[in-house]
Amino acid sequence: ERFERLKLKPFLIDAVKELGFEKPTEIQERIIPSILKGESVIGQSQTGTGKTHAYLLPLLNNLDPASQSVQVVITSPTRELANQIYKEVLKLISHHDQEIQARCFTGGTDKQRSIDKLKQQPQIVIGTPGRLHDLLKVNALHVNNTKSFVVDEADMILDMGFLEDVDRIASGMPEQLQMLVFSATIPEKLKPFLKKYMANPKFTHV
Ligand code: AMP
Repeated sequence: ERFERLKLKPFLIDAVKELGFEKPTEIQERIIPSILKGESVIGQSQTGTGKTHAYLLPLLNNLDPASQSVQVVITSPTRELANQIYKEVLKLISHHDQEIQARCFTGGTDKQRSIDKLKQQPQIVIGTPGRLHDLLKVNALHVNNTKSFVVDEADMILDMGFLEDVDRIASGMPEQLQMLVFSATIPEKLKPFLKKYMANPKFTHV
């Protein structure tokens, strides 16, 4: 019932019911309305808080299924996490009456296969920073029409030395970008990046 109050589309309400979620978690209550409005958000939160669905639900709600371009890009530091996010996306879009395309690109897989998969641009792209940047460089991935960019586990991305790749990916996106950054901690070294891409972010700590 409380998911209904967040004004999510019926296909998403159906999906959360099937997942067995009874009500939104704290971070979901706090940031879903902001993300629905297109605002940029910094979420300082650990895994286990429900942060993945806190961004997936509103981003999928706002997606335009009729527009055949990369609208949402999600990057995470590890292949495992990228694949987990991808699986959650597939569950959520399975209830949509129109086809929504999502793809996951990570290192350690054949690059030519990634390029081949991009002959048609999917609406949702998930991936590790290095592979996404590689695909941008060879002009296989087009982010010039991207509306929302999620940087998940940003502190780990920084620690693993991938922030530069993330910066290069973001710099190819439109100026009017909704940026969503999730991080357990907000290290000093992350702050210039946040300032560069987020003019007026909403900050949430759970
Ligand atoms: P996360 O913090 O995104 O890693 O999510 C942690 C776990 O919480 C995942 O297994 C989710 O499927 C689950 N979860 C997310 N939102 C809800 C919710 N509203 N109610 C119950 N479980 C949830």
